[in-house]
Amino acid sequence: MTIPFLSLKATNQVYEEQIIKAITEVVASGWYILGNKLSQFEEEFAKYCGVKHCIGVANGLDALTILLKASEFPAGSEVIVPANSYIATMLAVSNANLTPIPVEPFLDTYLIDYQLIEKSITSKSKAILVTHLYGKCCEMDEINSIAKKYNLKVFEDAAQAHGATYKDKRAGNLSDGAGFSFYPSKNLGAMGDAGAITTNDDALAERMRALRNYGSSEKYVFDYQGYNSRLSEIQATILMVKLPYLDTENKIRQNIAQRYLVEIKNNKIILPAENTVYNDAWHLFVVRVEERDNFRKYLFDNGISTEVHYPIAPHKQLSYQNWRNLQLPITEQIHETVVSLPLNTTLTPEEISYIIQIVNKY
Ligand SMILES: *Cc1c(COP(=O)(O)O)cnc(C)c1O
Repeated sequence: MTIPFLSLKATNQVYEEQIIKAITEVVASGWYILGNKLSQFEEEFAKYCGVKHCIGVANGLDALTILLKASEFPAGSEVIVPANSYIATMLAVSNANLTPIPVEPFLDTYLIDYQLIEKSITSKSKAILVTHLYGKCCEMDEINSIAKKYNLKVFEDAAQAHGATYKDKRAGNLSDGAGFSFYPSKNLGAMGDAGAITTNDDALAERMRALRNYGSSEKYVFDYQGYNSRLSEIQATILMVKLPYLDTENKIRQNIAQRYLVEIKNNKIILPAENTVYNDAWHLFVVRVEERDNFRKYLFDNGISTEVHYPIAPHKQLSYQNWRNLQLPITEQIHETVVSLPLNTTLTPEEISYIIQIVNKY
């Protein structure tokens, strides 16, 4: 059996006819940027997340950058981030002329350790930007209450958590504002780059809407030094075809994750923490293994492709050389040992059984 890590061709195949029809409509309309399709998608995604505002942008990195930029913190202000996130979380902070301050995650959930946040707060702190990494929501009650105590804003990097819930609310509606990515491999994926920002703050939403379009709310009037970061009509229409199936797809992911959690039994493999209270979007199923390369090669030799999210910790990257000497042992341990098993909507029960069987034999 040969099992790819993810085939976008396969995951999108079920929607192909509807997507082609929707794209054809856009082509015929003659309106390709900032039109009805985008407004309609923004309305639908806001409703889905349970928030007042959704602003479509060009990608997930821009979503976070614009969210921070629109917050109008003084340049050089500090924003707390999880040390083990995808680099885009840190880059958004840096791109907004702010300073990211990395905080260690919990080893079992891979999510920011809220008990360590207070120690990193200084007089320059303005916000906490958490990442719902791999599809699991952070402990938002604790995080929001720390933020309240120190008068900080809270933001979510929800790029991996479309549809995930914390208590009775969805990711994107758990803070002052959230950035989503619709990169093709995400739980809700476009066919090109796309992203969105969600918030319940009217004034913030208005600034972000201007910032994504050169800082303009009225044609040729520029109130802010903005960006060109717009979600195209074609991507918006594709996302609208797929959004109604997001919950069904997440349910499929949850069922696969449940099988892995119950049926994988191997002392060498550390399974991800089970989330019994919250609804995990299971963007990725990430296990930890001591000899990662060896494990990946073994799976590959048996036809199973895996990925590593992510092999090098942000503080070990050249782009963040100033963090080189930070002591972040949990982050390092995570980056050195994580492996992502295939988890996507096209896996058959037989393929899942095969993966479990091979993993158990390792
Ligand atoms: C994908 C991703 C992003 C960035 O999204 P793009 O659309 O690629 O810019 C940001 N944060 C996390 C956690 C991601 O997984």
